[in-house]
Amino acid sequence: MMNRLLIATVFFAWTTFAQAEPLRVASLSTVMADLARDIGAERVEVTEIVKPGVDPHIYEPTPGDRKTIAKSQILLASGLGFEGYLDKLRPSLEKAGVRLVVGGDVVKPIEAACEGHEDHHHAHSHGSIDPHWWHSISNVQAVAAQICDAFVAADPAGKAAYEANAKKLQNRLAALSKWVRLQLAALPKATRVLVTSHDALGYFAKDNGFEIFAVQGISTSDQPSSQKVKRLIEEIKARKVKAIFAENIENPKVLEQITNETAAKLGGVLYADGLGSGAAATYEGMMKSNVSTIVEALK
Ligand SMILES: [Zn+2]
Repeated sequence: MMNRLLIATVFFAWTTFAQAEPLRVASLSTVMADLARDIGAERVEVTEIVKPGVDPHIYEPTPGDRKTIAKSQILLASGLGFEGYLDKLRPSLEKAGVRLVVGGDVVKPIEAACEGHEDHHHAHSHGSIDPHWWHSISNVQAVAAQICDAFVAADPAGKAAYEANAKKLQNRLAALSKWVRLQLAALPKATRVLVTSHDALGYFAKDNGFEIFAVQGISTSDQPSSQKVKRLIEEIKARKVKAIFAENIENPKVLEQITNETAAKLGGVLYADGLGSGAAATYEGMMKSNVSTIVEALK
């Protein structure tokens, strides 16, 4: 009797004062997974459904992924049509009691710059909105606050910890924003042209005064016509563009054709659709890598 009471008391104390189990968070966004790890720290277990280096434009969740998602308490998604399957997923999320946190709901969306709306993945649901919101640091700050709120709502006992971690993250993002401005000051206005394989850096361009020419449309599945490539080559020659950029996921074949026919060289790899590996495995690292690559190639 005494033993049972003791066990019951100890168990009660443990569940009250320590978190019994971490908050289970699944993520369809490598960027949001990184923010979630920073804000959640040891209170949260983040499972990346879409992993770095996977092309999220053509990704579809497997039955195994759906099981993992159903067992989570929170699912993070980019939104703005980036996950073409998200609406199909919603009923099962509601049934399983999974709270969906969509970053795109709290960002300032911009129109896609691509001409001709050739996009298959987003056109039917979200028109020509550019879903790659994480290339604007202020959007990422809004989404970090959104994730913090979602964690507090799901795990009120962790409120102080989540808010302290989120504050540190917000300070780092503000410092990152300053760092980016300082680096880009090396580039005169006339050199601020980004030629990339698909139209993913619109938010970065808007924040920092760049013009964008994308070989593909807004999705990696768009195929450029030979006429479009020809027009692009003429534009690159006319503007004396020094470098064009590949992306971490793309096949840079067309970019190679352009470098053969113009004076532009291949300026290195930009992370467009999410995080990468090594130094680009965090949001800050990814942004720093992109900015350094751009400055190095265009200055
Ligand atoms: Zn993309």
